[in-house]
Amino acid sequence: MRPNIAIDGPAGAGKSSVARGLAQRLGYTYIDTGAMYRAVAYRALQAGLDVNTDPEAIAELAGRLRFEFREVDGARHLFVDGEDVEGPIRTREVGNLSSPVSAIPGVRRHLVAAQQRMARNGGCVMEGRDIGTVVLPDAKVKVFLTASAAVRARRRQLQLAQRGIHRSLEEILRDQKERDERDSNRSIAPLRQADDAVLIDTDNMTEDQVIEAIIALVRKVTGDAQGA
Ligand code: C5P
Repeated sequence: MRPNIAIDGPAGAGKSSVARGLAQRLGYTYIDTGAMYRAVAYRALQAGLDVNTDPEAIAELAGRLRFEFREVDGARHLFVDGEDVEGPIRTREVGNLSSPVSAIPGVRRHLVAAQQRMARNGGCVMEGRDIGTVVLPDAKVKVFLTASAAVRARRRQLQLAQRGIHRSLEEILRDQKERDERDSNRSIAPLRQADDAVLIDTDNMTEDQVIEAIIALVRKVTGDAQGA
């Protein structure tokens, strides 16, 4: 069985582009778990549910959603109950709401179970905050990506600009700091490096260099020169 690869780290550390590129290189399946938390936030917003007063209803909603990643014009989009939610889940409002929504225990329980089902046959590159610690504690390859706050914010700004969204560095830094603090300090599945994860600081590395470093780790466990 091909190994699963767990990639964790704070927002903007380069997880998504590295995980996507890595999956492409290896012919593995890329799973963006943050998109799933965002989708729950989006659906909760649509349903008029409040994260402070309706946590049980939001957890129940999360348990009813059917998640599926599909290829759309060469990009991977998340579909929820057959609806392509890739656009709405990337808004600032949904992004900010996804952090408190992801701190609801029932939401995590449902999403972790769905993620474990997706990875049960191996060959997944799964990206998030708790993959190496909670979702796939037995993953053969675990990586924790970091970068300085300033570098992460600048990358995020560029990423948004490519989608035609222009935001100041100050605003991005403020959102990022708030999200990092909440993700690291919550009592359930906080953002934390697994004891057996390899730490990669991406500040002075290109995306390709990070991917190469992870492929070297994959080769070590598969003993295969192709890394697959
Ligand atoms: O990675 P992304 O920024 O899209 O994730 C959105 C939010 O979902 C994060 O702020 C984090 O709170 C939450 N999340 C999580 N566990 C994961 C992935 C994301 O709590 N495995």
